[in-house]
Amino acid sequence: MFRSINLRLWNSLKAKSEGAKAQFSHRVDGPKSKAEHSLRRKLWTRTGLAIICTAILALTIIGRLYVDYAQARQNLFDIQAFRLLLDTANHLSAERGPANVMMAAEAPADSPASKRLAEFRARSDAALDGAAAHLTMSYGLHDHPVPKHLFDRVREKLWQARMEVDRAVSIPRENRRVEDMQRAIEDMFVVVDDFQAAIAWKANALVNSDTGLAAPVLTGQMLSDLREYGGRIASQIIAPVALGEKLELKNLVDAGRTRGRILELWRLVGGQDALYHGDYRLLDGRRDVERLFLGKGLAIIDALIGEGRLSGSYSMTAEQLTISFVATLQPLERFRSAFLDLAVENVVAARDRALKILVAVAAVTALILAVLIGFVLSVQAIIFRPLLRAGEEVIGLAEDRPMALKRDPHHASEMLHLFDAIDILQGKLQERASLMGQLKLQAETDGLTNVLNRRALDQVGERRVDRQTQAGDACILILIDLDHFKSVNDTHGHLAGDDVLKEAARLMHSLVRPTDIVARFGGEEFAILISDDGLAGAVALARRIRLALQLHEIVISDGTRLHVTASFGVARGRCGQDEWRCLIDAADAALYRAKLDGRNRVRFAREAPTRPALESASTPQDTKDENYPCAASF
Ligand code: GH3
Ligand code: MG
Ligand code: MG
Repeated sequence: MFRSINLRLWNSLKAKSEGAKAQFSHRVDGPKSKAEHSLRRKLWTRTGLAIICTAILALTIIGRLYVDYAQARQNLFDIQAFRLLLDTANHLSAERGPANVMMAAEAPADSPASKRLAEFRARSDAALDGAAAHLTMSYGLHDHPVPKHLFDRVREKLWQARMEVDRAVSIPRENRRVEDMQRAIEDMFVVVDDFQAAIAWKANALVNSDTGLAAPVLTGQMLSDLREYGGRIASQIIAPVALGEKLELKNLVDAGRTRGRILELWRLVGGQDALYHGDYRLLDGRRDVERLFLGKGLAIIDALIGEGRLSGSYSMTAEQLTISFVATLQPLERFRSAFLDLAVENVVAARDRALKILVAVAAVTALILAVLIGFVLSVQAIIFRPLLRAGEEVIGLAEDRPMALKRDPHHASEMLHLFDAIDILQGKLQERASLMGQLKLQAETDGLTNVLNRRALDQVGERRVDRQTQAGDACILILIDLDHFKSVNDTHGHLAGDDVLKEAARLMHSLVRPTDIVARFGGEEFAILISDDGLAGAVALARRIRLALQLHEIVISDGTRLHVTASFGVARGRCGQDEWRCLIDAADAALYRAKLDGRNRVRFAREAPTRPALESASTPQDTKDENYPCAASF
């Protein structure tokens, strides 16, 4: 009863274990590894998508920022070039001062006034050449060099104007007329007026390339005009003053118009607080312009105009006019210069800001991309590698493969928990394996004698096959039946009979080789299955056991000493699914013969005629052959 329960339990456990193993190995070999791949691929795909999206977004922003930066660099170049033009215009205007002095006075060629004029002319030429060289070349994003012919025309006009100045100077002072001076002065005006074309051309190009430059460019242009008109108003009256003549209507009209322009320009430029950005240089400059130029400078002009209206008698000479009035022009120049300095500074700041933003965005983008890539790599290291390792360990456990369990203390706590779970699983599996081993032993062992039971013997007999041919293995079966065992039970009791059975099994076991199998075949019957080393050897073994049993004294529990004998049937044949039964039948028939012949003897089944006959001559007296009913199967 107990044994049958154990057997059922063993079978069900074994079936479950095999099923679980098969299921697990299916998962491991097939879909599982695909799933692992797929999970990793999914992670890479999605992160890759995020990386691409980030890169596209970043490239768009960086591209836009780079354009802003390039534009700011271009603006800086352009505003500096524009300033060069305005400075050149300023030099051309300023050249009129010493020219007027030379024309107003009797100055020899090596006089200081003459040298000063030469210096101013050289300065104008250098500025003009520098501006022409700088502004007629292409640069950066916007290809808008100032047309060269504009500079050529200015040079030509300047040359003509200087010729006129030199001509007027060459006329002796007493013969010099207002018209001579005025023509030369007018020609100098034309030079600046023509140069305005280059300035206007450049201003237009700059505002078109970036409307943000409109305010500094147009204001700079107005300040330059203001300087020009500031100088021009004195030049418009200097000829009559120099020659002590009354102002003509033209002088009055021109000076009045210029005065109006000056005031208009100042209202446009000087009154716009927003232009100064609270900068102290500009605020101070505006105050100086208003105090010195608009106040003192224009007052000088107004006084001279007043005197010139009435007569040709003036309170100051042309040289004094030039010196005192040019001094009042200085604040205008400083104001213009400060404004342009500020404009350049603003553009430089805008360029630096654009560069900083560009670098910051590029750095943040690189950081985001690095974080994304680092995230994938760390997920791989923190999750996938331990998961794969855990998977391998679980597979190893499922396949009863011993695995060296490696534990990295740096693993995430969740992963350590997983490995702990695997350790627990391993412990449980070992426990179960041990239990299953015990159950297997119980299921295969006869509980009384501790040798294999009949079922286990049948399994061995049916499954023992030749490894190469897969045919049943050649083997020999010895069946043993204790003689008159019933009388032992009847005489000494069933327990004594059990003792005899145990002792007989022990004795048999002690006499066979470790590779031979001893089993309890039934009640008081035993079987010994040995590999085929020849029938003679098997018969000899049976005879040894028979004799040993006969001589062995068995002491039962009440101290009685017993002797038992047994009959032996030996058969040589094949194991295997089909042949096993025949082999048993043959051995049983031989055993039956031994019983019939009087018990306590060995009988063996006769071999088939096709096989070499066993040397029956050497067979002992108690051992005779038996016709074997299944011999045809040999
Ligand atoms: P024979 O020489 O013809 O074999 O006579 P026998 O008495 O040995 O044979 P029989 O078949 O008449 O009797 C076998 C006996 O073995 C009957 C049964 O009670 C006894 N037996 C079977 N199994 C056990 C067991 O486990 N313990 C004990 N004590 N006796 C058993
Ligand atoms: Mg029997
Ligand atoms: Mg018997």
